[in-house]
Amino acid sequence: MSNDAPHAGPFFCGVDLGGTKALGVVLDADGSLVAEARAPTPESAFSLGSATPGPHGQAQTERAEEIVECIMGLVSTLTQAIGTPPSPGDDGFALGLGLPGMVDDQGRLRFSPHLPSAAGIDLAVMLAPRLGGVVLVIDNDANCALVAESTTGALKGAQEALMVTLGTGIGGGILVRGRVLRGAEGFAGEVGHMVVDPSGPWCPCGRRGCWERFASGDALGRSAREAAGAGRLAGALELAGGRVEDLRGEHVTAAAAAGDPGALAVMAELGWWVALGLANLTAVLDPPVIAIGGGLAAAGDCLFEPTRKAFRELLEGSAVRRVASLVPAALGERAGAVGAALIARGASAKAT
Ligand SMILES: [Zn+2]
Repeated sequence: MSNDAPHAGPFFCGVDLGGTKALGVVLDADGSLVAEARAPTPESAFSLGSATPGPHGQAQTERAEEIVECIMGLVSTLTQAIGTPPSPGDDGFALGLGLPGMVDDQGRLRFSPHLPSAAGIDLAVMLAPRLGGVVLVIDNDANCALVAESTTGALKGAQEALMVTLGTGIGGGILVRGRVLRGAEGFAGEVGHMVVDPSGPWCPCGRRGCWERFASGDALGRSAREAAGAGRLAGALELAGGRVEDLRGEHVTAAAAAGDPGALAVMAELGWWVALGLANLTAVLDPPVIAIGGGLAAAGDCLFEPTRKAFRELLEGSAVRRVASLVPAALGERAGAVGAALIARGASAKAT
């Protein structure tokens, strides 16, 4: 990334609106990163109390407007950084937006357990007056991450691949013959809400025992607090200042990296759950490679080693097949935003 401004366009902006933070990037025409910014996702995004789209009242409209402000604030910061504010009809700038949840093939977020206030709201319609004629595309965040990883990251050159993002929840993207699998309405790849235990804990999607309740960053935090409450996680608890309620996933991964047996046991259990979902998905899709991204991927070997071991054990016919490679995503937390920008670049090329 260069701080030399202004740069020569065209520019492609990508914003990944996550459950806790929004991250934005600007790429140049070659796909190189020229600016980056982040902002917290408005807390009101979660306060609807229901992920179900329905008639939208005043409160939801206000919350959706806060999300629009958050996105436009990031866009403004990014365009100031490159010294080229977008103007109406500008063909030298395009915006891609990645959203967590079921985004249809028209770019509408139809259902979102982790961003309920935006579900059912047509963000493209709300953003259009603010963006003038700038090309805008909206896609699922994990599909964006898949595009980024398959273009410049860990899946570069792959024709068949699976991308999973282990964050607050679990997102998924499926690459088939070099293209993102969309399904009938655009909803393919919602792997986090594959039920793996019908009597498991409730999920924000309204059902019980979804994979993300067992194998996400949220799940790690919950199982860590349970283990600490039972006295099995002293090392991680010390890192959290001794308070079970303050214990988070990063305390466990840090303690595991330092060799703490209790933390390693929690990570091994997490790895088993990650592997269970990957084995189920492999039974359906048979990908040669699976990239694992999202915040949990930063845990490194203490996650990947138990996951690879359990994946081989759980996979149907593992003795007679080539076992898919489980690789860390290369673009880290920027994958979704970079992919959104790359999708915007593609849409911009089609529009001109
Ligand atoms: Zn669910």
